Amino acid sequence: MQDSHEDTIIQLLNQSGQAVMVGDSARAESALSRARQLDPVTLELELARRAWANQTGSKDEINRRREGVVKRLGGVAVAAPDRIDAWRALSEYLRQLGNNEGVLRATASGLKRDPVNVELWIRRTKAQIDMKQLDSAARSLRHCARLAPTHDAVEAMIRVHPVCAKCDALFAAAGAETCGKCGADGPGRGAVVRSVRARHNNKFDIYFPRVRDLIAETLDMPEHIQRQLTLDTLLKRHLKRTNQHCAKVLRAMSKEFGTAFDEPLFQSAVNGFLDLLIADLIRAINPREDKTIDTQIRRRALNETKS
Ligand SMILES: [Zn+2]
Repeated sequence: MQDSHEDTIIQLLNQSGQAVMVGDSARAESALSRARQLDPVTLELELARRAWANQTGSKDEINRRREGVVKRLGGVAVAAPDRIDAWRALSEYLRQLGNNEGVLRATASGLKRDPVNVELWIRRTKAQIDMKQLDSAARSLRHCARLAPTHDAVEAMIRVHPVCAKCDALFAAAGAETCGKCGADGPGRGAVVRSVRARHNNKFDIYFPRVRDLIAETLDMPEHIQRQLTLDTLLKRHLKRTNQHCAKVLRAMSKEFGTAFDEPLFQSAVNGFLDLLIADLIRAINPREDKTIDTQIRRRALNETKS
């Protein structure tokens, strides 16, 4: 990952601010330009954060300043489109300004570069809910649930927004009286509703948290990387693909799941590419034979294999 020099840039900005206060504009400018040389995007993000938090002036002045922050940051993001942190900050500020169309545009731009960024998907889903685009919101939330089944914000949204049993659109709230799309009775009127997760209770979702922890431990992944792992990133990124890594993971998975593996599928698992190996091994787990998973998870897994 690229070093964004965040700490140094914050220090330089503080020095610049102190120099301004004692009237030393040359020193202030020099600190600022050193920060810009280190990483102009990180500098802009920090400047935006400070301007956004600045509560001085009237309500109108604060709003004008915030509009200015968003405009400037929009230019920064367009000029450095691969910087997902810029799209993320931009969509967050747009959300706070209540500009949901802007959030949709910013998240679309960011997701074009990083289609598995769950933070961007979460912001996109929330904007779609606010805009009452409940069909698109249901699709986006399903996507979130698939990418990051254990993410707190995803869990929270799934709890608050069940889906309509008639048309699959998301309900705007847990107590909604009617479906915003088809008009059917909602949970507020006692209607039976479903979770967006219901369609995606597949073996990957069910086993993902356990496999992730196991692999993180086996490969000594730092905790911050482990926390970022989603089903997709586990399969596509963060993984060094040496033969030793594959062999280690194979041993750890065999120890963990042992006899629960379906023998022919286990034997045909592709050893050599870690992402393929992990996908094959999860596929080879037979939930009927897995005595180690807790009964509730087991029941869900069994329902899945029946259908
Ligand atoms: Zn409906």
